[in-house]
Amino acid sequence: MSSLVPLEQVQAEILAAVPNLSATEVALTDALGLVLVEDIFTAEPIPPFANTAMDGYAVRAADTESASLTSPVSLRVVDEVPAGHVATQTVGPSEAIRIMTGAPMPNGADAVVMVERTHSLDPETVAVEHPATRGDHVRLAGGDLAAGAEVFSLGTELTAAHIGVLASIGVTQIRVIPAPRVGVLSTGDELIAAGPLAPGQIRDSNRPMLLGLVRESGFVPVDLGQVGDDEDLIVDTLRPALLECDAILTSGGVSVGDYDFVKAALNRLGSLEWRQVAIKPAKPLAFGVISGTPIFGLPGNPVSSLVSYELFARPALRQMSGHPILHRPTVSARAEHDFTRRPDGKVHFVRVQVRWSESGYVVASSGEQASNVLSATARANGLARIPDGNGVTAGDSVPVVLWRA
Ligand code: AMP
Ligand code: MG
Repeated sequence: MSSLVPLEQVQAEILAAVPNLSATEVALTDALGLVLVEDIFTAEPIPPFANTAMDGYAVRAADTESASLTSPVSLRVVDEVPAGHVATQTVGPSEAIRIMTGAPMPNGADAVVMVERTHSLDPETVAVEHPATRGDHVRLAGGDLAAGAEVFSLGTELTAAHIGVLASIGVTQIRVIPAPRVGVLSTGDELIAAGPLAPGQIRDSNRPMLLGLVRESGFVPVDLGQVGDDEDLIVDTLRPALLECDAILTSGGVSVGDYDFVKAALNRLGSLEWRQVAIKPAKPLAFGVISGTPIFGLPGNPVSSLVSYELFARPALRQMSGHPILHRPTVSARAEHDFTRRPDGKVHFVRVQVRWSESGYVVASSGEQASNVLSATARANGLARIPDGNGVTAGDSVPVVLWRA
């Protein structure tokens, strides 16, 4: 029986062993969630021209100095300019141009009066009820980004807002680290993919779940199917997958049972570390890098498989794809009930429901915690970390890894 290895040590060993994926160029519209490998500068200013932030009238502020509700200033309306068009007239003394949000500032004007602060006297005359100050409601050229400015730096994880900014400066192709292609293989004689169950059989839940976790993480899932407890078959399935995928997840067959063929198969393909991690659930883990492809031999119990993916595979895959932040956020939450446990040399990860309350985050168990009971894990939105010992008491503060809001 090998000894228990601390979680952080196993995580560090894995992060030190996984390779970095090579950069590639993708269409901007395919770059969501990927990480930039170049600094981005803008050749153009954003906004590209001075324009109005409001619907109203472009004016010369000096003309409106004496305006008030009781004594409005009348200006002659010489033109009208919607967004996407350019005024054909200049704003001269005591003149105004009707202007819509986003339209370029006409020459001669230095402020915009909101339409709500005017009333129309006739189609050619507007009464301004408040004085304008130079620059009122004018969005200056380059006010967001000056021409030549650095927009984003290498290592930025691209959100939808980043994509929007990049589109605004005319980027259509971009250099990023691609999302890793992650193969998922289920192993076990007892598993079937679909249909009625024969005695002793269960349905394969890990493969759809792990494919889902891979997709949810922003990676590309590759379904490697399901094989029985047969060392040769496992080897034959994994060999081509090692070439096709950037990483592989297997489930089952890594415990200390007599039918743990994944361990044996992986040892035939390359050198593999087999760990008993000091955590519950997800104690057994096989890990190795074979022909440059990391393989995570996750445990078969569905809850263990999921927790193992979260703690080991997801951070490693994020590092491979250049993400600056590897782990999910941890918040401090107040326990709504006792979380009892006994000392056993392990950190316990309890599936929980965490929610925001007036006094901050509060946390409660999401239900039955056995490692085969996936339904309670499906109801969880976080993982509470209960250190070795006798547990925590209601009201205590508990660190919780947030999966979802
Ligand atoms: P193992 O790690 O192969 O010893 O499996 C541990 C437990 O997880 C056993 O009860 C298996 O039946 C179950 N199990 C293994 N693989 C899967 C799977 N893909 N879907 C659902 N349960 C599984
Ligand atoms: Mg098995």
